[in-house]
Parts: sequence; structure tokens; C-alpha cells
Amino acid sequence: MTNIVSRALVSLPREEGLLLINRNNLRAALLPSEAVANLEDAVAARTPYPPGEFGDAIAEIGFAIPPDSPWYVHIVLRDRPAANFGRVTWEITERCNFRCVHCYLDEKEQRGLPLTQRLQVLDKLERAGCLWLQITGGEALADPLFEETYRAAWERGMVISVLTNGA
Ligand code: SF4
Repeated sequence: MTNIVSRALVSLPREEGLLLINRNNLRAALLPSEAVANLEDAVAARTPYPPGEFGDAIAEIGFAIPPDSPWYVHIVLRDRPAANFGRVTWEITERCNFRCVHCYLDEKEQRGLPLTQRLQVLDKLERAGCLWLQITGGEALADPLFEETYRAAWERGMVISVLTNGA
């Protein structure tokens, strides 16, 4: 199993328990809510190995900890959110390189928030518990701040999909 990107693991406390997700393959495990403190303590203490229940869960969801890095650098610890939202779709731009006849957009010019406001939006989504973030447009990849937006969402522990026309 190859680790595609850094910090692929996310722990997210939810009403039903502690969700542990491998963003490389979208596999997940649910642990008891009481496990949150255990995990946070172990990360803070930089223990050489994850606590037993997490070691098992990490293996169960198919994440192989690289031998050249400690386990805790691969996990984003999310705070308990204020709500239990799951999924959000965000149209980050109206710009598009296509002119499809069926398109509901008008000018297809760049209209999107500046980066500071995007970060504020992501902070709110994080607090609301958003796990699955779908980024779309327009053409999402034509957005001048696409990379910054994607990275900021990733750092906040979201599982991201991108809707694109592929051109
Ligand atoms: S690719 Fe999508 S956003 Fe772009 S013109 Fe076609 S329908 Fe509209």
C-alpha cells in the first residue's frame, strides 16, 4: 500500500463515535468516543507507536506507516465539531473554458472569493463537521486559487473530490 500524500489519516469525533479515515483509499473505522483522549495524548506525547486500538484500526483501514517517519505525522486530529454535517459542495468559481449549450452559468468569468474569505469559509465548514468536500465550478481547475483552496481544505482534514470537465 502506497501513501499517496502526507497526513492521509484523519480522526474526527462525531456523535456516533470517533471516525478514523484513510484519505488515500477512503476506508474508515469507527472507534468509541472515549478513544479521543487516548489518541490526542499519544500524539501530544509523540509515543513511538500508536495506542493499541489505533494501531489495529490503522492497519484495518489499509494505511501502512512508512518506516522512515513517526506515525503521528500522518494524522490530522480534528476537534469535536459543533454540528454533525457530513457533505458540502462548493462552487469556487464561475470561470470555465467550455461553452456548453446546456450550462446554467452566464458569463463563465472569474467570480470567486478572495483567499482570506475562502479560509474563513473552510474554518466554518470544519467547525460544522464537514467531512466530504466536493469542489466544483464553473471549471474548478481554472480557478486561480484552486491549489490554495484545495490545500487549505486538506489541512483541515476534509476528504476532497473535484468536479472537472477534464480539459
Ligand atoms: S463544463 Fe460545466 S461549467 Fe463549463 S460550460 Fe460546460 S456545463 Fe458549464
